[in-house]
Amino acid sequence: MSDCLFCKIIAGEIPSAKVFEDDDVFAFNDIHPKAPTHVLVIPRNHIATLADCDDSALLGILMDRVRIIADDVLNLAAGYRVVINVREGGGQEVFHLHAHILGGKKLPF
Ligand code: AMP
Ligand code: ZN
Repeated sequence: MSDCLFCKIIAGEIPSAKVFEDDDVFAFNDIHPKAPTHVLVIPRNHIATLADCDDSALLGILMDRVRIIADDVLNLAAGYRVVINVREGGGQEVFHLHAHILGGKKLPF
């Protein structure tokens, strides 16, 4: 989608600190980290929100890549949190589906 910030990051039109990519997802450091490690994992295809996605295969891939990135790239063996904000009421600011991976310290809930 042409006016989507995260589509522009995938296309390389806006710079990002990439941590992982494959045919299905792209992952990069959050520009305003809420924890010592804060990475965003996004599908390459533009989907606005989790509530707009009924593609169970894609959602499975997204969660699988979250696990692989947390374990193999970010070395978060001690644990981490996965957050998906959904629409305005859920605090979503960028309307391209993304999973936050937060870790690197004990996270209060
Ligand atoms: P959300 O509130 O779930 O939509 O999360 C959007 C996230 O995108 C926020 O944590 C922002 O800090 C992050 N963000 C916004 N612009 C950028 C950017 N250019 N590069 C990396 N992260 C960004
Ligand atoms: Zn997009």
